[in-house]
Amino acid sequence: MSYEGVSKSVVLAQNKYGSNSVCISLENELIFVDAGMNTTIASEFRKNMEEKFGKKASTLILTHGHIDHFFGMGAFSDLTVIAPKTSKEKIERYVTAEFTTEIIASFEIYFPTFKAAAKVAKLFMPSIWFENEMAAGKNQEIQIQVTGGHTNCSSSIYFQQEKILIAGDLLQVEVSPYFGEPDNDMGLWIQTLKLWEKMSLDAYLPGHGPKIDVNYLVKVREFFEQILETVTKLKAKGLTVKEVLEHPSLPSGYWPRGATKLAYQMSIVNLYKHLR
Ligand SMILES: [Zn+2]
Repeated sequence: MSYEGVSKSVVLAQNKYGSNSVCISLENELIFVDAGMNTTIASEFRKNMEEKFGKKASTLILTHGHIDHFFGMGAFSDLTVIAPKTSKEKIERYVTAEFTTEIIASFEIYFPTFKAAAKVAKLFMPSIWFENEMAAGKNQEIQIQVTGGHTNCSSSIYFQQEKILIAGDLLQVEVSPYFGEPDNDMGLWIQTLKLWEKMSLDAYLPGHGPKIDVNYLVKVREFFEQILETVTKLKAKGLTVKEVLEHPSLPSGYWPRGATKLAYQMSIVNLYKHLR
């Protein structure tokens, strides 16, 4: 895990396999966003931040119900944990699941360090579920909002004092984005990115990869517009999903070629399937 100081009060911890985690230092407390996948690594991040800022953690906010974002939540079991209501079923499924060898092996395809993470995982249900938006922090300094897009529960966290937005997986940087779930809504996702462009903030923190500025955000939004338009057009022409996957008119994307993941093809298949 590598730490990047984003501003006076915000630190981004980048994780190679699990999601990023963010620490926001408020007047008398620390707020964390997403736990990543590994409890031990998340505990270390929490401890380092408590030492750095000389404050105790109070709250963990989960941006959405994907396992790579909350599997390390055991590091925050003594805190208030806030999550979008629409993520409840997704999280509950794993809290009550037994992680058998077969289940672990199926996750290892996408997350090579999952087995080690499963050994130390301590899942539990969040304490606060919010519907559309809520404020966090003793002085309500943090705005949380459900936007949808990547999943129907995808939320963003805005820290107005330092003009920083934490995007969860609505931004995935230097890696192919994942949009492979049935509750993905590309139109809504593009709309959200457009709103964020207008805000022209100091930093946008993704669910995976380093922080970005508004220029990178534009490239991400343009990619989503292109892929949506191209797949829509090819499907309307009667091309099969296999033909679409191999089609030269697919946009090449904003990430380095070597960083195209297995789940990218699955995402295009999902997009094709759900186009009306
Ligand atoms: Zn996700």
